[in-house]
Amino acid sequence: MQYLDLDMDLTDRERELRRAAHRFAADVLRPAAKVLDEMPADQVVEKDSPLYEVLRKAYRLGYHSVGIPEELGGQGLSPRERCIISEELGWGCSGLALAIGVASFPAQAAALSGNPELINAYVTPFVNDTEAKIIGCWGGTEPNHGSDFVALGAPESSTPKMAPDVRARLDGDQWVISGQKSQWVSLGTVATHSLTFVSVDPSKGMSGNGVFIVPLRQPGVSKGPALNKLGQRPLNQGELFFDDARVPLDHMLVGPEMYDMYVDGILAMANALMGATFTGVARAAFEEALAYSKTRIQGGKPLCEHQLIQKMLFEMFMKVEACRRLSRAAYCYNAVTQPPAVEYSIAAKVFCTQASLDVASMALQIHGGYGLSKDYVIEKLFRDARASLIEDGTNEVLALAAARKLVARYGVEG
Ligand SMILES: Cc1cc2nc3c(=O)[nH]c(=O)nc-3n(C[C@H](O)[C@H](O)[C@H](O)COP(=O)(O)OP(=O)(O)OC[C@H]3O[C@@H](n4cnc5c(N)ncnc54)[C@H](O)[C@@H]3O)c2cc1C
Repeated sequence: MQYLDLDMDLTDRERELRRAAHRFAADVLRPAAKVLDEMPADQVVEKDSPLYEVLRKAYRLGYHSVGIPEELGGQGLSPRERCIISEELGWGCSGLALAIGVASFPAQAAALSGNPELINAYVTPFVNDTEAKIIGCWGGTEPNHGSDFVALGAPESSTPKMAPDVRARLDGDQWVISGQKSQWVSLGTVATHSLTFVSVDPSKGMSGNGVFIVPLRQPGVSKGPALNKLGQRPLNQGELFFDDARVPLDHMLVGPEMYDMYVDGILAMANALMGATFTGVARAAFEEALAYSKTRIQGGKPLCEHQLIQKMLFEMFMKVEACRRLSRAAYCYNAVTQPPAVEYSIAAKVFCTQASLDVASMALQIHGGYGLSKDYVIEKLFRDARASLIEDGTNEVLALAAARKLVARYGVEG
């Protein structure tokens, strides 16, 4: 269904990008996602899995490099164009949309570093990759530190008890990394590189962290099995184990002195794009419900002619539109503003993911018993949306982080 875009200045290029992304979502992501969703988690990452064909097609179309600057071989998209694409891919399958996004994390970080050697090593091969041979991941969460990684500005954050258990120590001209990242690392099972968050100075807790690019095909790195979970099943997860893995000095992109600011910047981008992605999930659920309500006859007329159903459809529509406005505004503002207003991106993530669950739940209800059936996409959208309330920081812990930002930003006025 073609939605009405309230941005009246949408360019022809933006309309074309939306059309192309929607085709990719409908023709490639949706069918592959159905297969992957029903496969056992360990098979999703096996050699002949459709996951790799999806990634190859995405890389060939350049969706893997949307976050890389144009001068380094990326797509040169405007912030609004990125939101449009995120929404469409999220409409297709949030798990696969996020897989394509997370695959670029190490390359994006290397691009941001401005270091020509890192750009040669990690950005150029990635943007030129048409076979999805280079797959990135983000290694933050640990068995004993989950929410701790996103508790921005919490007073306890800079105390030693909050320090991650994955540690880096200097050995001559190399960093030596040891410890375990949890089974929640998306694409951890298949990734070739990780953007890894590591304690460098444990006395400073989370604020003593560094951010490293770690090639995963090296001695000292091993991986856990694929995690079996409720939603977003096409996006697989697995542990990373570091046992004296070594990287050169310049692979620490950010040290403790800049770490807190860096995490603010990452969340400002990632949370707003999560908002755009789950706008797509909410829209998909709304569209399914609207279409179904026109064909299902109860009480002698189509469901959509019953007022209770109409009220639900309107609420769903309203939430989808609010999601798009907030996530787009937050991302477009923060993509060009330093320091970013992180609380707006967090608001986008929290609002849109919750809305996607609410809309998917209403859509499932409108489907009646059929909504629970695997023959309809709605039960998958519901499960996918549920996972998003925990992913990239739980909505509760993110809300607390945003509240601290608000309190700090606005003083008492007389
Ligand atoms: C689909 C999915 C994909 C993911 N992908 C990645 C990835 O690519 N890389 C990665 O590193 N991680 C990833 N994660 C992990 C994710 O970031 C964590 O699950 C999340 O940050 C929460 O951590 P936790 O699961 O350990 O929960 P916990 O931190 O143990 O939280 C448990 C409960 O306690 C609450 N809580 C925790 N701390 C506080 C506090 N200080 N105050 C009040 N309440 C609190 C939380 O809100 C939650 O309800 C992913 C998770 C999911 C679900």
